[in-house]
This record gives sequence, C-alpha cells and structure tokens, in this order.
Amino acid sequence: MDLSLISATPWDYILVGGGLCASVVSHRLLEFDSKLKILVVEAGPNANDRPDIVWPNSTNLIGGDFDWKYKTVKQSNLDNRSIDLPSGKALGGGTVINSGAWIRGDKFDYDLWGLTVNDSRWSYDGLLPFMRKSESFWSEVINRDQHGHCGPLPIQSVTSTNREFPLRDRVLRAWAELGIEALPGFDGNAGNPLGVGDLQENKNGGRREIAAAVYPLKGVTVLTDTLVEKVLIEKMPHGTGLSAVGIKLAGGVEVRGRQTILSAGAIRSPQVLMLSGIGPAEELAKFDIPVLLDQPGVGRNLSDHGILYHAWKVKDPSAGWALGSGNPLFNKPQYGYGTPGDFIVSTDVSKNGLIAAIAEDEGATPDPATHPLLANKRTFTEHMLIYAAAPDGSLITSVLITLLPTSRGSVKLSSADIRDAPLIDPNYLGSAVDRYVAREGLKLQVKYLGSDATVIGREILDGEAGAPGFDEVLSVNSTDEYIDARLRAAMGSTYHPMGTLAMGAVADADLKVKGVENLRVVDTSVFPVPITGHLQVAAFAMAEQAAQIIYASRA
Ligand SMILES: Cc1cc2nc3c(=O)[nH]c(=O)nc-3n(C[C@H](O)[C@H](O)[C@H](O)COP(=O)(O)OP(=O)(O)OC[C@H]3O[C@@H](n4cnc5c(N)ncnc54)[C@H](O)[C@@H]3O)c2cc1C
Repeated sequence: MDLSLISATPWDYILVGGGLCASVVSHRLLEFDSKLKILVVEAGPNANDRPDIVWPNSTNLIGGDFDWKYKTVKQSNLDNRSIDLPSGKALGGGTVINSGAWIRGDKFDYDLWGLTVNDSRWSYDGLLPFMRKSESFWSEVINRDQHGHCGPLPIQSVTSTNREFPLRDRVLRAWAELGIEALPGFDGNAGNPLGVGDLQENKNGGRREIAAAVYPLKGVTVLTDTLVEKVLIEKMPHGTGLSAVGIKLAGGVEVRGRQTILSAGAIRSPQVLMLSGIGPAEELAKFDIPVLLDQPGVGRNLSDHGILYHAWKVKDPSAGWALGSGNPLFNKPQYGYGTPGDFIVSTDVSKNGLIAAIAEDEGATPDPATHPLLANKRTFTEHMLIYAAAPDGSLITSVLITLLPTSRGSVKLSSADIRDAPLIDPNYLGSAVDRYVAREGLKLQVKYLGSDATVIGREILDGEAGAPGFDEVLSVNSTDEYIDARLRAAMGSTYHPMGTLAMGAVADADLKVKGVENLRVVDTSVFPVPITGHLQVAAFAMAEQAAQIIYASRA
C-alpha cells in the first residue's frame, strides 16, 4: 500500500513500532475481528527471512543491521563508562536479535505490579493465563498448571534438546554444596525461580522465534523502514481534554486513526510521547516543544538489569569440559541450538548486609517484617555458567545478572528530532542496595568457582583469568574494594530497559495514557516495577492481555 493510500485510510488502530508487543497486539486484534483496519509502522525492515539472524551463532545480531546500537550516558557508578545498549530495529523488535532466554521471573514482582496499580489483572495470577497462552512448553508433565502447550512460542530446554553438557552433574552438585538446590522439574518458570533450573529458550530446535513471524501479521498493514515522529494530539471540543487522532511520520505525512498504540519500546516510546507534547514540562521547554500535558512521569523510572561476565581457567582443557576442547560431543547438532550452559540459578541475598544498605539509601533502619526487600525471599541475582570463552576450551565464562535494581534512571530528549537517540541513563549501581547485591552475587560466584567449598572449585577450575587493568584476580581473599572495582570496570547491560511510561504514573491499568483519550502504551515501558526475569515472558504475556483489554473496550 502506498503512502497516499495509507494516509487516506481511516485506521481502527495504529501501532507505533512493530516490535515484540506490537506483533502480539496487532495479530490478536485481527484474530478477534478480521474486519479491523490495523496499521503497524516500524522503523526497521522486515527481517523475518534473513538467514543471518536465525541461529544462536548467527553473525548479524548485536551491533548488526537490526540494532539501534544505543549507548547510555556516562555511568557515574561504572567508572564513568558509557554502556552499550543494543535494541532491536526490525519487525519483531528485540526478538530479531535477542538471545532467546525464556525466564519468567518471580511471582512476587508481578504481585507487586498488581498491588502498585491496584489491579489484580497485572498480578502473577492475573498474567498467568496469558503466559500460558503465549507458550508451547516443552513438557506436558512438569508444572502443568503453570504452562501452556498450544501457544505460538515453542519453548525448548537443555533437556528437551538432549544437550548433556559434561559438567552438568558437577555443576549441580556444586550448587547443592552451597545450599542451593534444584527446583522441582528443574523449572524456574513456575513462579518461584529461587534455586537451580534448566536453561529454557524460546527457540524451536535452535531456530529463532521472531515475534512478527510466530504471531503472523497477515491482514495487518505494515509499513517498514518508516520512523514515526510523533502522535498527533488535539484538544477536544469545549476544553474537555486531549485526544490522539493519529501519527505523523518523520517524512511529514500524517495518518489518522481511532486508536493509537505506542509500542516503540522503553527507550523510544517516551521519546515519541515527549515529542508529541506529553512529558515533563521543563524537559519539553528545553527544545521548544509545546506542552500539551505536563506529565512528569514520562521517561522517569528507567531500570535495567546489570550483567558481569568473568572467565575462569580450566585445570585440564583436554578433559573436554568446554567448547573448543576437541570433545566430539560438541559436534552434535543440538549443541548449536542455544546458549552453551545447563542452568539458570537464581538467588536471594543475605538480609543482614541488605538492612545496612537499605538504611544507607533510605536514611533509616528498615523494619525487616514489613520492608518489601526484607519481608520475603526475593530474586536478586541470576547466575549462569557458559561452557565457552576460549577457542581451545581452556576457559569457561561465569555470568552474573542483577535482577532487582532499586536505583532508577531516565530517558530524556537530546533534541526535538526523532532521528536523534534520546539520552539514556539507566543509573546502574546507583543505590547502596544495588552495589551490595552485585558484590554479594559476585562473592557467591567466587566461592562457587574458586574455592574448596565446591567440586567445581576443587576439581575443575584453576582460578579466575583476570581482567584488563587489574593485576589481581578474583578469589575468596578478594576485598570488597577490589570486587567493587571489578564491577565498576566491567558491568554492562542485560538489554532489558523497562518502566519509562510506568503503569500507575503515566498509563492506567487499561494501558491508556492518562489525560489523553485514544492513546495507549503496550511495551516494556509500562512495567511499574522491575521484573526479575528476562522481560520476554512478561512482555508477551502483557501484550496478550493488552490485546484482550483493547478489544473489549472498543467503541
Ligand atoms: C540484544 C538483546 C538480547 C536480549 N536477550 C533477551 C533474552 O535472552 N531473553 C529475554 O527475555 N529478553 C531479551 N531481550 C529483551 C527483549 O527482547 C525485549 O525486552 C523486548 O523485545 C521488548 O519488547 P517491546 O515490544 O517492549 O520493544 P521492542 O521489541 O524493542 O520493539 C520496539 C520496536 O519499535 C520500533 N521503533 C522504535 N522507535 C520507533 C519509531 N519512532 N517509529 C517506528 N518504529 C519505532 C523499534 O525499531 C522496535 O522494532 C534482549 C534484548 C536485546 C536487544
């Protein structure tokens, strides 16, 4: 369809961005009513048939053709480094370049979301039917009430793909030696991830599942390689408020529709909204953008999960523990189906140190019986061993992810031009709690990998490989100062920005932008609290529920 025809069509729904959430919402809306006129406008191309993004070892992912290649502003708690923040730029959004880890997170976070917005649809039990609707879980037996078996997204696990990594039993034994036990059915995707679970991925025999392909957009009009500049917002007659009437493309063309849905992701949706005149008045004033609605919450509340990779030396590389070691096992095709690791391990932190860190952040000693970080077990950190790091199999990689940041950052405008990336400040390690949690998480990994307390430390590994700029290596004798320095020097992003148009603050529980009629947000911007998973599960489920809410409220 050419632009003049698109511009002349009165659309029922216009979606800004064609990423993960937009694919689900537009597919489902059309499934509910095939007569609906739905337009999706995506800045990137259609990459569904690109062979160079399909497999885990594909070469065109991060830093490639379908990555916005964002960089954060300098992070004061990370040695003033600017951090790479890749983001999908193609139909399907993040699902075109992401790693496909399928990690739901903790029931507690979803329940907090529901409580925050006083609406049980966003609690764990409220979202569970939609988590189940999106997936085809690999096992019919494990946690049956927690999983779906008919959804568009086949889920694989290391077990279902017959990947028996040689260290599997020892890794498991080592975690048990530290008191961290296997989860029932090795399933971390059943609401309580605290423990050891199999790595699960939304891959089908290793093949990437692009949202726009597994939720086909046949019947939806899709405009690719097209940037949306802003939402057209008009004052309603007789001063009764504001209403979205469509969008303006970066080339100037205007397109009208009854409902506009912002799905440009947690970095770009707040930018588009600010360029449309909705946002903190002082931010808009900096770029002479007329303020239609002073909404201080737009672009605030950004959070992301931090990540640290560190490599450990294998005592005997010829034993064949790691990829590159020459072990013929790794030549079997299934070992190319996903990330080469067995388990996702999620842990809480010691509450004693946490109390002190909270007191430092909040200026008063918290009540352990009522404080949300103390009163319950929480999922603070994630640990994973990847059996690869050196071409000769002499190293393995340990991954630490901080899942529950208390610091918040922001997305602000860098100009009034949609072509310019906004200023992204995730504020990594910006709180004493976050620094404590990261330090404790790394200490746990050092005990696990580099001490006599575990079979891995005793028999398999021979110390940490070190890091550029440091003479010392990580060990059980490392001081807190050294550990903190390592974190500051190398922590990066897990690529999970969320919260910048938070439900409760900017959007209501029906995903409507407060103060503007006919405008909704459906993407990870609306997560009001950090989800301690890898966002895809939560994003697919949210979008499934959003489609239902949007359809139910049609005029
Ligand atoms: C490299 C990488 C690895 C990841 N790994 C994992 C993982 O292993 N597991 C996991 O669960 N999650 C992972 N994620 C996160 C996950 O993919 C995202 O959380 C998810 O895609 C967010 O969905 P969304 O719909 O909010 O936004 P997106 O999927 O990012 O979609 C937003 C879309 O809007 C488009 N857009 C933006 N601005 C405009 C505009 N002005 N006009 C038109 N279009 C616009 C973008 O191009 C994009 O296609 C990863 C992400 C990345 C980038």
